Amino acid sequence: MNAPNQSGWKPAMIVSEDGMHSGPQTTTGNRALMLEEPLLFEIGRAEVTGVDLPPVDVNAPTRLAGLARSEPLGLVGLTEPETVRHYTRLSRQNYGIDLGFFPLGSCTMKHNPRLNEKIARLPGFADVHPLSPQNAVQGALEVISELGGWLCTLTGMPAVAMSPKAGAHGELCGILAIRAAHEARGDAREVVLVPESAHGTNPATAAFANYRVEDIPATPEGRVDVEALKARLGPDVAAVMITNPNTCGLFEKDFREIADAVHEAGGYVYCDGANFNAIVGKVRPGDLGVDAMHINLHKTFSTPHGGGGPGSGPVVLSEALAPFAPLPFVRKDDAGTFYLVEEENREERGPSFGRMTAFHGQMGMFTRALTYMLSHGADGLKQVAEDAVLNANYILRSMEDILHAPFAGSGPCMHEALFGDKDFTGGLSTLDVAKGLIDEGYHPMTVYFPLVVHGAMLVEPTETESKAAIDQFITAFRAVVERALAGDEGLKQAPYYAPRRRLDETAAARKPKLAFEG
Ligand SMILES: *Cc1c(COP(=O)(O)O)cnc(C)c1O
Repeated sequence: MNAPNQSGWKPAMIVSEDGMHSGPQTTTGNRALMLEEPLLFEIGRAEVTGVDLPPVDVNAPTRLAGLARSEPLGLVGLTEPETVRHYTRLSRQNYGIDLGFFPLGSCTMKHNPRLNEKIARLPGFADVHPLSPQNAVQGALEVISELGGWLCTLTGMPAVAMSPKAGAHGELCGILAIRAAHEARGDAREVVLVPESAHGTNPATAAFANYRVEDIPATPEGRVDVEALKARLGPDVAAVMITNPNTCGLFEKDFREIADAVHEAGGYVYCDGANFNAIVGKVRPGDLGVDAMHINLHKTFSTPHGGGGPGSGPVVLSEALAPFAPLPFVRKDDAGTFYLVEEENREERGPSFGRMTAFHGQMGMFTRALTYMLSHGADGLKQVAEDAVLNANYILRSMEDILHAPFAGSGPCMHEALFGDKDFTGGLSTLDVAKGLIDEGYHPMTVYFPLVVHGAMLVEPTETESKAAIDQFITAFRAVVERALAGDEGLKQAPYYAPRRRLDETAAARKPKLAFEG
């Protein structure tokens, strides 16, 4: 049953026109226990509210000095049960890691251990306020400090900036530190080099920080073309941004050689470490000559993401960039007391480039990530990387006989397996396979990225999937791919069974409707 409907909202047609799914149309638009749900503005009423507030006992118009609102706000209300149902119904139309396998490449959609949640909910962590007096939140500051210590140890880097709030935000932090370091030397460099196999956020970050971005081509094996990169180095190059493992799912074997050449030319090396899951405990980026690298706690260290929570993208920094790290940062004095270095700590702040965010970062993510690290231990984290890589290679080798795998000949992949649409027939494309997978109960993999492969399909299973779960996925994936190889027309109409059929994704991106017009 839907909530009262006074706006003329009509349930969407859920029976496909082509008869593929030919149940009778229902009068409500609901399908079994899956309920259609209109927008809040369509079902809410101005006169309804879920809470009772006492009448205002002050003379508000006087107190607000003529600024009091003269008309009602026009917001609609729901009763408490209507509110709960509204959001619960919407949540059932969504997909998440707690529902099933989520093979989105370059995203590391792994299970979030419930132990993390339990610890993050301890009142001392959950209720901590960023403006609490520092002597009252020593435990929270210690968590930030200890987590930072783990990140430095795992990466072999001397310093870490904890405040960036996501991967792309961490990239900006690293690039701003690089800009500050060059400017401190009076060296105004203008160019950032970004290989084709880098993540899309890398060129966006460099451009956002006012650098001119130049592409470096990939080799046919899917790695950075080292000779092309070396040839482009010079006094105008501020930095190189390399994703490692890269978005073709491959480890950049020549990283050390590249880093040495960049340093020789007076530049810095930014490493996109969002894919750290593949190498955590196995490789220390500091040993590869990295100057700055962000780590997505919400990927490798299992804190929820993808609409499920805020991100957190700490950035580890080399000796050369550490002095420019953003404020505030946690230090410990000789008496063992933790404190935050802020703008007013003139001596200790040094040449810091300033502030990335209002406060010190995402406490809830810090707590979860540290819990994850402590519960795995160093050996456990190494096992994470090994299992993630094993699972990805299992998928690569289980699909390569029927699906074009452009870099399968370059040796084992890292955490993700990359495929292309080369052999599809009948005008079928990667998009059709992605939509077909939805009908089979799987969130699609990442599609059309990286750009170096035609019709790319990037599958990242992570270590938290069992062999049984991966085998089930492979069975479904193979079935859909076989339909694409056979030119099955029906696939062009997929998905048939999702709450909505095929949407116009281009129009959604180009002409988004962001406001409700009643
Ligand atoms: C996810 C990802 C990013 C961006 O991280 P956000 O937290 O989404 O900003 C950057 N680079 C790579 C390789 C990624 O996988």
